[in-house]
Amino acid sequence: MEKKTFPIEKIVSLSKRRGFVYPGSEIYGGLASTYDYGPLGVELKNNVKKIWWKYFVHDREDIVGIDGGIILSPKVWESSGHVNEFKDPLVECKKCHHRFRPDKINSSRCPDCKGELTEEKLFSGMFETTIGPIKEEGILTYLRPETAQAIFINFNNVLNSTNLKIPFGIAQVGKAFRNEITTGNFIFRTIEFEQMEIEYFISPKAKWESIFDQLLQNMHTFASMVGLKDQDLYDHEIPEKERAHYSKKTIDIEYSWPFGRDELWGLAYRTDFDLSKHSEHSGNDLGYYDEEEKERFIPHVIEPSLGLDRTILAILCNAYDEEALADDETRTVLRLPFSVAPYKIAVFPLLKNKPEIVKKARDIYADLKTNFPTFWDERGNIGKRYRYQDEIGTPYCVTIDFETLENETVTVRDRDTMKQSRVEIKDLKLWFVDKS
Ligand code: ATP
Repeated sequence: MEKKTFPIEKIVSLSKRRGFVYPGSEIYGGLASTYDYGPLGVELKNNVKKIWWKYFVHDREDIVGIDGGIILSPKVWESSGHVNEFKDPLVECKKCHHRFRPDKINSSRCPDCKGELTEEKLFSGMFETTIGPIKEEGILTYLRPETAQAIFINFNNVLNSTNLKIPFGIAQVGKAFRNEITTGNFIFRTIEFEQMEIEYFISPKAKWESIFDQLLQNMHTFASMVGLKDQDLYDHEIPEKERAHYSKKTIDIEYSWPFGRDELWGLAYRTDFDLSKHSEHSGNDLGYYDEEEKERFIPHVIEPSLGLDRTILAILCNAYDEEALADDETRTVLRLPFSVAPYKIAVFPLLKNKPEIVKKARDIYADLKTNFPTFWDERGNIGKRYRYQDEIGTPYCVTIDFETLENETVTVRDRDTMKQSRVEIKDLKLWFVDKS
């Protein structure tokens, strides 16, 4: 079936209306390219992080996690090359003074007013901060622009405190900060975002191509676990001249966004660049002794790097749908997979002024809630409650009615098909376990 694409504004509006994502610092007039996640957004995000962690860490023997600092020694960023290299080119329109990254616009004139652009200047993408009570005397450091470096500098710590042998990986989920000039497109590009990264360490003699392909395959599997379809994803191999100088191969997994195809996640073979640089600058040998081969080497690394906020945006774009109903109405529905939906079930008493029905519904709600995030709703009529749950992506609604009091069954309504089935209360939990 042809994929329906909806403008990004629809996703932005639903996100705010229902509490997925709010514009940042809104009551003070907003702060460009910052967003806050609301009650549903935080659930969605946590679900995605949990699925990622389970799939890449808990389900495997060869990957462990860490949670490194956001603020690291400034020496880390000098050694990694970020202080000198983490710079983007900038041009400014002489007429409207809007600023752009020349590599992100397809014209030599201003995309907004066609004005003449200034010469390219380089500017640092790192946010500076100072440690110490007096700014002028403090230590200048940075908010991390990627999570990866905390992994490299802890390589020896992890090696010495675990029984891992190469090949193995270290995973981390956390915030990163970039002073981006080309912002916009909602949570696609923001100045503060979360990354889910793995540094997978291998021997320099390993057949890196097959490990790279396997990790790429794992990323596609994870995509399908959060509901993204392979037909919307493209593996774009970055040509040599556009790759970071230390990378031997980089594939960007791109997604077809409402605003065009662009990067969702990246996979890069970073060679031994990072561990070598940190060994050299710190004076600590970040090498590895291979007991079988009886040799020491600096491990090479392959890095799957996934932006969490871009993943959330892709999930929302993929799930958003508008469906024409028979009575000339349109229903908005978020077709989120069960695994990522903030609420899995909603429970409704048919009428809120019938105490026997409300009591029964409350009991069922309390019971389901011990296993699944469950929503209670007794407002308005059933039709309105269904529409609300459709918009927030709840896969199933359970209604307790007069028949329930007679035969211990409830109505379960499916979000996607809108079909209703009668299920016995005693079977209800297992019925949902089967769907999860
Ligand atoms: P882009 O080319 O879009 O700027 P990048 O190649 O600089 O991205 P990486 O450094 O490879 O990105 O970062 C890894 C992942 O982190 C990206 O694939 C993306 O999912 C996410 N990411 C990077 N920058 C941002 C940002 N400013 N806002 C949200 N997510 C981001």
